[in-house]
Amino acid sequence: MGRSCFVFLLLLFCISPAASADDFYISRGGEQAAEAAEALGVDAELFCAANDLDAGEFLSEGRLLILPRPLSVTVTVKEGTTLYSLARAHGVTVADILAANAVDPRALPVGAELVIPLDGAEAVPAMADGMIRLNWPLDGVITSPFGERDLGYHYGLDIAAEEGTRIYAAAEGIITEADWKNDAYGYAVMIDHGSGISTLYGHCSRLLVEEGSRVMAGDAVALVGNTGNSTGPHVHFEVRRENCCSDPMLYLP
Ligand SMILES: [Zn+2]
Repeated sequence: MGRSCFVFLLLLFCISPAASADDFYISRGGEQAAEAAEALGVDAELFCAANDLDAGEFLSEGRLLILPRPLSVTVTVKEGTTLYSLARAHGVTVADILAANAVDPRALPVGAELVIPLDGAEAVPAMADGMIRLNWPLDGVITSPFGERDLGYHYGLDIAAEEGTRIYAAAEGIITEADWKNDAYGYAVMIDHGSGISTLYGHCSRLLVEEGSRVMAGDAVALVGNTGNSTGPHVHFEVRRENCCSDPMLYLP
């Protein structure tokens, strides 16, 4: 199944540690937690704590990792800078900034350095309170796992089954796509499950739902096919977190 669903979309966005979303990172595997933290420019201790890792632990390929924000940043006051503009820019309150700096809020001296404490509620993104659990979309044989492979990164899990086998919604959600997606995915369904999580089911032979409708976990959404860049009947199953693909196995029982 080497050439099946060679999905190139999102490639740069997903594997670049400097991606603009910058709250999450997908491990390419092989590196130790502390090394990865250093390479990503985040505090190693916070990184390990946020992801329940030991500093020397090797990261598994395709693991979705939280990138903790620093506890504080230092900014230099420019012409026109106000405490309010700083607070807005950093997602903190004016009181937070005042508590950390001995300054007169009405007369910020240009050139002064202010510490912006970031250790409030937003220091670690909301994902820390547990990942969504998904159900298997069908009963089949895994023919290609998520991650690196000969022809590039594979952003989903390939599950082979007979043409026409029902594909079920992995969780409750709203159908955001149900159409011919492109030559890579063929006919595909995408479901938004909330909390920034979506699932995608590609290479379908027939779609059983329409964009905008709500489905429950276990509702049939499509039939297995061989459309798009596929070399045999299977579903290409993707889990996207904030539009970035992560290993579906992390969410499946
Ligand atoms: Zn695939």
